Amino acid sequence: MIRQAVLEYDHADDALERLDELIDGRRAHVLRGQNGFDVVKRVLPAITAYPTSLFGGECTDAEVERLRLKNVDVLLAVGGGKLVDTAKLVAYRQGVPLIVIPTLASNCAAFTPLSVIYDEHGTYDRYDVFRVVIERVIVDARVVTDSPYDYFRAGVIDTVAKFYEARYLSGDSSPDAGVNTGLALAEQCGRLVELDLSESSFTAYGPETRFAVDHILAVGGAVGGFGDAGTRVAVAHAVHNALSRFESTHPFLHGDKVGFGLLVQERLRGSSDAPYLEAWLARIGAPTSLETLGLVPADIPQLVEAVRVETELQRSPVPLDIDYLKIIFENLVFSVYK
Ligand SMILES: [Zn+2]
Repeated sequence: MIRQAVLEYDHADDALERLDELIDGRRAHVLRGQNGFDVVKRVLPAITAYPTSLFGGECTDAEVERLRLKNVDVLLAVGGGKLVDTAKLVAYRQGVPLIVIPTLASNCAAFTPLSVIYDEHGTYDRYDVFRVVIERVIVDARVVTDSPYDYFRAGVIDTVAKFYEARYLSGDSSPDAGVNTGLALAEQCGRLVELDLSESSFTAYGPETRFAVDHILAVGGAVGGFGDAGTRVAVAHAVHNALSRFESTHPFLHGDKVGFGLLVQERLRGSSDAPYLEAWLARIGAPTSLETLGLVPADIPQLVEAVRVETELQRSPVPLDIDYLKIIFENLVFSVYK
């Protein structure tokens, strides 16, 4: 099935100026996070006219339950991926449309009809797919340039992973139109490795950064929307989910853990891109070893078992070579590129 959630995507230097016109007198309610909201407020002081709820920090069932809102015609999500995931569920359950103002370019949460749900300990629980109407994603360059570079970098990695995961699941092409479109979009996501997306380039916010931001926030989300199970998550995300069971990995961003998972996945399939990806991740400062992620060799059996469970949950069509997976983790305890 082909699924899309977003009606309009507006990435411009003045995108927030059109918010009032979009709301058009409806009763709006803002779900906001901690840091990004202050930046949005500085760019658009009028946003404080709407009632707000403060996001608790994790997309959990309890948090969605807590955010039952009354007398609301449209919900505004102002924040990062977990906040957006929570807002999508709240909007869906209450039958109201959503407007998303990402304060970070770090993931495709603003573009997908699904939410990743964590348990109360911050461990990945599941993802729910549902019909949600996102009227517009408002990407204001003044807001995104003010976000920390690390989040952008993690977003780039997560988006590059779309290419490798889609190819892992479906190869280079498919007779299914949706999957084939997903593969074509994913290939474009893979090209981000060729661009200069260094911190100075991000701060300058030139054409390459804008191109990357559009791929992180929109095109990357459309990959799964078109290809569905054929282009969605694979081993890289299974490793991410498995890593998230270890407390020491909690301070690392989603994309950083996916990047490590990508190394595991590409080694698993014997890809010639594996060393190239490892050097690329090291160059942009992302973790490439278990040691960096705070894991020791004794954790490997538990990690392997967790990856096995995660790929089973994904109903991956590709069988997992458990023995080889264990060897790969043993080889990735320490980083070669220091
Ligand atoms: Zn991801």
